[in-house]
Amino acid sequence: MVLGSYRRISMSRIFEITQQIKSYLPKADVELINRAYVFAAHAHARQRRSSGDLYIMHPLAVAKNLVDLKLDVSSVVTGLLHDTVEDTHVTITDIEQRFGEEIARLVDGVTKVGKIHFRSSEHKKAENFRKMIMATAQDLRVLMVKLADRLHNMETLHFMPERKRQRIAIETMEIYAPLAHRLGIHWVKQRMEDLAFAHIEPEAYQALSEKLADKIDFLQQTQSRLEGILQEVLSRQGIEAQVQGRMKHMYSLHQKMQRKHLDFDEIFDFIAFRVIVDDTPSCYQVLGMIHSLYRPVPGRFKDYIALPKPNGYQSLQTAVIGPDNFRIEVQIRTESMHKYAEDGVASHWLYKSDDPKALKDQQNFQWLKQLTELLQTAENPGEFLENVRLDLFVQEVYVFTRDGDLFALPRGSTTLDFAYAIHTDVGNRCVGMRINGEHADFHYKLCNGDQIEVLTSTEQTPSRKWLNIVQTPRARQSIRHWFREQERETAIQLGEHLLQHAIGVDFIHQGILDFAACDDVEALHEKLGRGDLEVTDLLAFVNKGLSKSSVRSSLAHVFMQASSCCYPIPGDTVVGSFEAGKGFLLHDAQCPMVFKSDAQRWIDVDWNASSDALYKTGIEVFSQNQRGSLGLITSCVSEQAANIADLKIEQRPGALSSLYFLLEVQDRTHLARIFKALKAMPHVAKVRRHIPQQMPQSQASSRLSSMMRSVTSFGQQLGQSIKDKTTRKKP
Ligand code: MN
Repeated sequence: MVLGSYRRISMSRIFEITQQIKSYLPKADVELINRAYVFAAHAHARQRRSSGDLYIMHPLAVAKNLVDLKLDVSSVVTGLLHDTVEDTHVTITDIEQRFGEEIARLVDGVTKVGKIHFRSSEHKKAENFRKMIMATAQDLRVLMVKLADRLHNMETLHFMPERKRQRIAIETMEIYAPLAHRLGIHWVKQRMEDLAFAHIEPEAYQALSEKLADKIDFLQQTQSRLEGILQEVLSRQGIEAQVQGRMKHMYSLHQKMQRKHLDFDEIFDFIAFRVIVDDTPSCYQVLGMIHSLYRPVPGRFKDYIALPKPNGYQSLQTAVIGPDNFRIEVQIRTESMHKYAEDGVASHWLYKSDDPKALKDQQNFQWLKQLTELLQTAENPGEFLENVRLDLFVQEVYVFTRDGDLFALPRGSTTLDFAYAIHTDVGNRCVGMRINGEHADFHYKLCNGDQIEVLTSTEQTPSRKWLNIVQTPRARQSIRHWFREQERETAIQLGEHLLQHAIGVDFIHQGILDFAACDDVEALHEKLGRGDLEVTDLLAFVNKGLSKSSVRSSLAHVFMQASSCCYPIPGDTVVGSFEAGKGFLLHDAQCPMVFKSDAQRWIDVDWNASSDALYKTGIEVFSQNQRGSLGLITSCVSEQAANIADLKIEQRPGALSSLYFLLEVQDRTHLARIFKALKAMPHVAKVRRHIPQQMPQSQASSRLSSMMRSVTSFGQQLGQSIKDKTTRKKP
């Protein structure tokens, strides 16, 4: 085709458009539309569509769709200009200078929405994408232009390469047709669905087309016959009504066959009828007449007048068995219900712009104000609001990773929330971010469409300050969990240490885990480390048959070693510490060793007697130098069931000797009995504990009460942070 004839066609198209808009907006600024056409034709002059058409034919088709939707001048101008910024050298500033701020904003919106691409592998996010498109659109008219644009692209999709065709068809089916449905623009939805269906399931589409072609004559005859019957019946009753028969669109037939597992021959309701009357009471009157004429199909009557659909749709719907057992669906509605059902939100806009005040507003379109007015007139404000409020009702912000993955986060979320939304580890290691390529801090609040790159470092760990920054429960929980996890690791380490020295790792078998109600050894370590399980209880279980008190001493036996520098015995006030290669060594609390080393390593221990074990300790007996006195003393010790491990004799001035014994005794009680027996001997002047590096006794007793901690507090103490550990005072 030569350029001249294209020009003639496009000129006649723009004339058609301006004529059409004048039919519903008599004062429409046609001059602005013409200027936009000339500007767009010039900008796209060197471009052609895949079809071979001059590019300007596309914006013209979009503008035509927009006047079919009876939209305002700004929308139609935007339709003409919508691809100039994306595809030509024209900038938004150029548009603003020539066509004003409002149209520049609309064109910018369409350009932005056009950059959002839905990837079919992410079907589950389709609803988020729809919301995001609505949020990005900001102004409902942006969305209308986008739908008009997509509709024409679908009509010319067969010129595109196969790969692109699939993507665009799926996106249309998943995103744009449901959007059109949501906005109540029924015809756009149906056309989009049929066009997408042809590309997504070509075989099914082809098969259905062929079967319909065979039947089309019969269906058309049936349709016009039924139209005649219904029209006649209604006029006989004095009801003025338009009766329109229509074929169901292909995709809805296909869906029905799929959903109900029907063959083509099993479908009886190819045709639907619409009866349009003047007012609501007439709707119910017509319903009654049709039901008395033909037998209704049970369960198929729906009153969407009393209870409109969420997108605002209103009608009475029924299905009846018509002549020749032909099943027919009937929709009954008023003219305004019909307009809404066909054009959705657009019809509301037109309806309002009919009155002079709204026409005046049109010069300076205030969407929000109009919306408020719409809400006041809507039959069901709540549902209407939900469907048209766009940006306002969207509680989320939609942002992307650097790779283009979409994330929906609550309004007010920060970059740190985003990092945690990607992955807990990404959050924990986050050191900063780049938003749309520029550095931003943790406090930055996310905006729709932000592309975010999270910077991480393996050195980074969460800070408690982050709890004040994050807004999402997920991020908050992750940070708290991290801190709990740190405490847990400390507890595990300490519990493991405790176990190694208490019973030895070899002892841990399933029975122990069952007893401790732990799934694994790590859990056992943690439980011990936190003090949730007493070491003594565990040992009582390990040494079955022993009482808890006897276990305390067997614990002492297995676990604790009395140090050989001060020879403490059970019942003494002792402290202990772990020593490499020796285990847990107990010292007398007053032993100089205790004061020589770091106070923080000493742990108070309540060391109780064992029934069988014997412990070494030293005593000094002052005895008169009498013949046979040593023999009497050693027999006395033996009678008290103590062993003598070592003995030294030291002559003192005068008649006394000091006898130093290293005894093996059970505990302090046992030693006290020995002392008592010895003191009862006539030649014994005095008996006392003798420990190498003896400390004054008075100091030891003064500290006794503060030392009375049980060994079980050991675990609890360790479970806390090392820093929290009580510091010992030196006397
Ligand atoms: Mn376009």
